[in-house]
Formats: sequence, structure tokens, C-alpha cells
Amino acid sequence: MLAHSAGTSVEMSSVHTVLVFALVAAVSVTPVYALESCQSTDRDCHGHDKKTSPDAIRSRWNVNASNLMQDLDQFSVSCTKLIDAFPLDEVDGNFVRTVKNCIFSKSIPTPLKGPLRLAAVSKDVLEGILNVDMAVTQSEEFLHYASGGKLLPGSVPLAHRYGGHQFGYWAGQLGDGRAHSLGQYTDRNGGIWELQLKGSGKTPYSRSGDGRAVIRSSVREFLCSEAMHFLHVPTSRAASLIVSDEPVMRDQFYNGNVNTERGAVVLRLAKSWFRIGSLEILSQSGEIDLLRKLLNFVIDEHFSSIGSDDPDKYLVFYSTVVNETAHLIAQWMSVGFAHGVCNTDNFSLLSITIDYGPFGFMESYNPDFVPNTSDDEGRYSIGAQANVGLFNLEKLLTALSPVLTKKQQKEANVILKGYVHIYQMRFHQLFKAKLGLLRDEEDDGYLIAFLLKMMEDTQSDFTMTFRQLGEVSAQRLHNGNFTQMWALEDLSSHRLFSDWLSMYLLRLGRQQNDHDLDRQHRMNNVNPRYVLRNWMAESAIKKAEMNDFSEVELLHHILSSPFVTQETAEEAGYAARPPLWAKRLKVSCSS
Ligand code: AMP
Ligand code: MG
Repeated sequence: MLAHSAGTSVEMSSVHTVLVFALVAAVSVTPVYALESCQSTDRDCHGHDKKTSPDAIRSRWNVNASNLMQDLDQFSVSCTKLIDAFPLDEVDGNFVRTVKNCIFSKSIPTPLKGPLRLAAVSKDVLEGILNVDMAVTQSEEFLHYASGGKLLPGSVPLAHRYGGHQFGYWAGQLGDGRAHSLGQYTDRNGGIWELQLKGSGKTPYSRSGDGRAVIRSSVREFLCSEAMHFLHVPTSRAASLIVSDEPVMRDQFYNGNVNTERGAVVLRLAKSWFRIGSLEILSQSGEIDLLRKLLNFVIDEHFSSIGSDDPDKYLVFYSTVVNETAHLIAQWMSVGFAHGVCNTDNFSLLSITIDYGPFGFMESYNPDFVPNTSDDEGRYSIGAQANVGLFNLEKLLTALSPVLTKKQQKEANVILKGYVHIYQMRFHQLFKAKLGLLRDEEDDGYLIAFLLKMMEDTQSDFTMTFRQLGEVSAQRLHNGNFTQMWALEDLSSHRLFSDWLSMYLLRLGRQQNDHDLDRQHRMNNVNPRYVLRNWMAESAIKKAEMNDFSEVELLHHILSSPFVTQETAEEAGYAARPPLWAKRLKVSCSS
């Protein structure tokens, strides 16, 4: 069956699939054109942070942008707020147990063994957020601090108790099994950041795990969280990556092949590490006073627009999380990012990307792309993420139900029903921007879905197809001259490509007062040229495992400007057709 639009025909059933993918997989009242100034992880953009004035902070800490701390002794974080706000686990010690009636357990990190090496460090985080001079990272002291071997005076490291739904089922108590919160840090703008070590040893929540993380997964978390930030996707950040010689046994593909790898620790930070699972465990175990306490804390600290006395505050909180989760997943889709393990314990209450594991950036366009080889059923395929978001928000609503009135529960259900619409609108906006489209036209959704369907049929590269559509002039597009544009060459092999192209060029031609160079500029600012493809990470990991961190550094540097063409990146082939061996790469949950 054929559908006709603007003189173009395309098989209806398959476009329907794409539309469904785009729609189910795809609101927002934010105009696309306002996005650029509001795309960072800065929660101001979402009105979450309660702010102290920058001047007040500067005078309190006596710092300014050019006054970076030169010594780790000058640096301090504090757990006081978290400890004062909640009851602590009454049992002490890092032995595995079921924990009740608390949000955190005190837990001391276990220092990594063997010589420690600084494999990577983010200047943007160190100097830009933590106000620490990069020179400090060269000290032994820093190596120990950032890997759990040294605590600063007054520090009380904490492991967070949370639960979660994993692969659709309630998994009970999970918690920080290999992460330690070191405390909160107030940046020079008054923003609060919670610093956490990942891979720093056992806690009461380690279950059968060893509390460690290996080099390969730590390199991936370090690089990807920083890359996502520079792609303007809300995310946790990474300050440093320390590798050790401590042997860590892993059966990477769960096939009985156990290898000795090496332990590593990422020092990571987020405005908050609370997850959907943080609330779920309290609700599931009937700890409703504590549930209310945690909610009040999260709202007071991170949702500044919600009044503490508002009788509907939990409902407004829910509505905000629904809205922002829809936004986040649409942003993932717009850069072809599949998280890999979208369990409720990995979904942040602040709707930032957290817990990087077997994620992947989609190469050939395929809604069924599953980055995690352990995910046999493709539950967390890229095209399923929007639906999984809905599932997770349903679980959040269940967790909130004990503190909502019957009327509020009904209203919350109506809010949840709006999620799909919010997602679709946001997806539509982002993809319109990816095509350089201004204003709204009725057939825009069709133009997007048609393109995605052709990309699927021709297995065109997701990142480079959009990038090259922005790099190519309208004149060259018109002439169908795609030499040296490998992704467009692939796409143009589709038998309906010229139909789509005419429709696109006509659409661009109707954009009054829009110069082609302006269109290209807009598109190149939203379509990255470089993303962290698995093969790129893999190559850097192989070297890092031999203590050569040059490629980690190169990737970190390049992915900090993903929209800018860079000579070193071109030489390394990062925008070229992926090497054949890339297709054979697998990533699993093992980390
Ligand atoms: P993830 O899939 O990495 O989000 O982890 C799921 C749960 O397993 C969390 O509670 C983690 O803290 C825990 N976990 C994962 N790996 C380990 C490990 N090596 N040791 C202890 N706990 C772990
Ligand atoms: Mg996790």
C-alpha cells in the first residue's frame, strides 16, 4: 500500500513502523530555537536548583575563577546535610546485609592495590566545577583521594540504600554496591554537587559483587559521561579516572571464560544521585515517613519552583519528573544513544543520564539496536527506550502512591498519560532541528519519518547522515553530488531518495529569510561529527589496559567539541566509515 505526500510515495507499512517508532519512541513547550542556551546539564535550565547568589558564595569561600585551589588540603566536601536530613543505618561495617529504616549506610572505601596511575582527568570538571587547579591531580595525594585510599578530614563516606525494577521485575534491595558518596561540594555559582567514587570497594549493598569496577567499564563511563555533557545531554560528570594493578576477575560475556582484569575508580559527580529506586525501596517496605522525608529533601534541594507548603507538591514533583524524563529520552534518541540498562535503579529523579554500563551509540540506523549483548530480548533496544521510560514512570507513581490522596493519584495518572505526547513533541522538535527546519509545517513529521525509514533500509550511519546533511550545501544536495560523503552516498542508494530530497529541498526553499549557510550552521551545531562509538572506546581501552592513556586523552579532548571538525579526529578516522571489526564488538553488563 502506498501513501502519497507532496508528490512522494513510500511503503505505508514500513513508514508506519518508523512513525510508530518515532512517535512511541518520540513534548515540550520549549521552542527549538531556545534550546541552544538551555541544553546543558545545568539544572537552572529546568528550574531545579535553589541558588545562593554567586557573590555570597565567592565571599564565603574566598574564591574566584582565577583563584583555583593549589592543594588538596584546601578542598572539602561535606556529608553533613545528608546525614542531618536522614537517619543512618544503625549497623556499622561493610558486610552484606538487608538494610532497613535509613537512606544511607556509613561505608569506608577499600583502597585500590598496587601502583596507582591517573588515566584521565577532566579539566572542565576540576577547574570549572571543583575549583581545583589541574596541577593538584599530579600529586600522590590526589591519586589516593580519587581512588578511595585517602579521606579528607571530617569526611563520612556513605553508601546509598535503593532498590529497583530490573528487566521488568522488582529486584528488592540493590544500593551502592561499589560506590561511595564522599560528600557535597558547593561550586562558585552556588550549585551543589555530590561527589562519588565508583569501584571503591564493598559496602553493605555489594550482594555477591566484589565492589570493584574494571578498566574497560571505567574508561567507558569516564569518556561517555563527559561526551554526553558536551553533546548537551543532561548527565552525571566525571572528574578523574584512576587505574590500579589490583586483579579483578570478570567473566565478561558470561560464558565461563573468567579473565583477570584490573581495578579502576572513577570520581564522578552529579547534583544528586537519587533514583526512582531510592523511593521505591521505601514504599515497598512500608517506610512511608522516610519516603516523605526523602521526597521533601529532594524537592527542597532540587525543585526550587515547588513550594514546601504546597499541598500538591508530590504531584507537581511527579509531573516535573514525567516531563523531564520524556525530554531526556528524546535527547538520547536525537544523538542515537542507547543506555543499555534502563532499570528503575538507573533512572535519576533529576532526569539526568546516570550509571553508564553497556551503552552504545547507534551506528547504522536501526530502531532495534541493542547495545547490551546480555539483553537477549532487546528489552532496552534504542527504539524501546521511550516505552521503558513510561514503564519506569509508572513504577515511580506506584512508589509515590502512599503519599498521594486518591484525587492526586487520579491526577497523577492523567499526567502519566501525557508522557507520550510530551515525548513525541520533543522528539519532533529535536529532529526538526537536526534537519534545519524552521517553523512548523504539516508534513514535517512525514519528512522525518520518511528519512528515518530510508536510513533503516540503507543502513545509513545515524550520526554521519545528519551531520553530512548539514555539511552539504543545498546546491550540492540538488546536484546529488555526494563524493567524500560516505553516509549520504549510502542513503542516496535508496530508490526513493530523490523523492525525499525534492520534498526536503522544497521545504527548505519555503523558509523565508533563511540563508543556506545559516541552515548549515544550525544543523552543524546540533548534529555531532563525533560520538563515542564502541570501536573508538575499545581501541582506547586496549591501550589503557597497557597503561597507555594517550587515546583516552585524545578521545576525551575530541569529544569535548563534538560539533567542531578537528584535524586529529579526522586523522584517527573518527568521522570515517567504521572499521569492519567494529561490527564484531560486543559489550555486556559485566563491568
Ligand atoms: P548496575 O547494573 O551497574 O547499575 O548495578 C546494579 C546493582 O549491582 C547496583 O546495586 C550495583 O551497586 C551493584 N553492582 C554492580 N557491580 C557490582 C560489583 N562489582 N560489586 C558490588 N556491587 C555491584
Ligand atoms: Mg546502576
